[in-house]
Amino acid sequence: MSQLKVSDVKVKEKIPLFINGEFVESTNNKTFDNLNPLTNEKLNVVYEGTKEDIDKAVKAADAAFHGPWRTMKLKERLSIIHKIADLIDEHVKEISRLESIDTGLPIRQTKNMAHRAAENFRFYAEMVSSHMVGEAYQVDQDYLNYTIHKPVGVTGIITPWNSPIMLSTWRIAPALATGNTVVLKPAEWTPLTADKLAEVMDQAGLPKGVFNVVHGFGETAGASLVAHPAVKLICFTGETVTGSEIMKNGADTLKRYSMELGGKSPIIVFDDADLDRALDAAVWGIFSFNGERCTANSRLFLHESIKDEFVNRLKERVEHIVVGDPLDEKTDVGPLIHDKHYQKVKGFLDEAEKQGLEMFSGQLPAEYPNGHFVPPTVILDVSNDSIFAQQEIFGPVLTVMTFKEEEEVIKWANDVKYGLAGYVWTKDIQRGHRISQAIDAGMIWINSQNVRDLRVPFGGSKYSGIGREGGHYIFDFYTERQVIHVALGEHHIPKFGVEK
Ligand code: NAD
Repeated sequence: MSQLKVSDVKVKEKIPLFINGEFVESTNNKTFDNLNPLTNEKLNVVYEGTKEDIDKAVKAADAAFHGPWRTMKLKERLSIIHKIADLIDEHVKEISRLESIDTGLPIRQTKNMAHRAAENFRFYAEMVSSHMVGEAYQVDQDYLNYTIHKPVGVTGIITPWNSPIMLSTWRIAPALATGNTVVLKPAEWTPLTADKLAEVMDQAGLPKGVFNVVHGFGETAGASLVAHPAVKLICFTGETVTGSEIMKNGADTLKRYSMELGGKSPIIVFDDADLDRALDAAVWGIFSFNGERCTANSRLFLHESIKDEFVNRLKERVEHIVVGDPLDEKTDVGPLIHDKHYQKVKGFLDEAEKQGLEMFSGQLPAEYPNGHFVPPTVILDVSNDSIFAQQEIFGPVLTVMTFKEEEEVIKWANDVKYGLAGYVWTKDIQRGHRISQAIDAGMIWINSQNVRDLRVPFGGSKYSGIGREGGHYIFDFYTERQVIHVALGEHHIPKFGVEK
């Protein structure tokens, strides 16, 4: 098979907004450039959504919420959601190609992300039909209380540029399956798969206004969505500082938030671990998705007795990682999303060099001089209070520290503002559980990389997020639990205003 090129992927010249079932221009008719991370050249342009566009989209979503979506039979709603999943599966090739050229993520990985997008819809359609159940409390013969789940209303979903199709559908699917309507504000650097998703929704027969996409910038389109009084829920995935800004902006209209934020997750390898598997996991966990991954194991803690052997093997692996064109099936690591992000990641490497830290890096491709390539890099013996161990670099950069005792590694693992994930490698099962429970993070993996069943909760603690997605845990966020109290008989009612 000959090598795929960007020119082989059909990309719209102008990416429209999708409001009330129509693909439209923005009200100000302005566009902004969408760049190819491999070449830094323009891929296409995107209509820039404004406050007025957000208002139109929210009104359409509100009307659909109170109209066809609310009155539709559950069976019919869920069959549309299954249809969305089927259509995504049918278009996996196209979706993964669009995602790869837009984000720089390697095609092997975006294929899995596109399949996962379909799975997100299927999973929530099934979860809602089997688990969205209320409870009944028979107080006594005269009295019954019961609860029902009701959808809340218009859901504003604001997404980041790393793995957009997978992350956005992880929010859109439960929002729609539970009966809410959606306005999506995708990241400005990655509009392509959100546009494709709008086409899929349209094809699946979703009633007009149930799903809307307003492209544009965070400070304008994003902020207007958060401040809109008719938006009831905000699902935000992105940087911690942005999450905090959004919470302030939505305070006046009392939004309910689900926040999936930054991470700086530790991977701890003890001397009794299966070192072959721990090495595979450490390498995959930081260098997959170009290192632009919230749950990346960006801080490697090695027991001092295995440090030299592990680091030598790590070096050999890093040297063989294939960095290159995201459309090439052989590529492991592609270019970073944007020049601005490249400068940020490169800034950390320049600073490490300036400080004389010991580092090693993999290869850079000879072609694509304007691509935002950062070689997979390992920085050794960093101090836990340094910027390298404390700040989210969000690129293919791993820091290494050595520990002697359990207590010190737990202290270092926790001594960071984030608490998204953690990874523990040991054959001692008691130690595995002990360390896991001692780490302040929402999710821990023992002797494993980042795989999980969609039924379990996903989310972070500390500065990594608020709330949990996944499984039935979503009902707390996406639905209102209403209680109905019914008198079955002549239950006592105190009398006022009658003669005592
Ligand atoms: P970002 O915070 O810069 O942007 C995310 C989205 O917010 C974009 O759509 C942007 O336009 C919008 N936005 C920016 N300012 C806004 C404002 N004032 N009001 C409303 N919207 C606004 O994040 P990013 O750089 O796109 O993504 C990377 C970050 O996302 C990393 O920190 C990463 O860890 C985090 N992330 C977390 C998870 C998780 O599940 N915890 C998953 C993926 C990414």
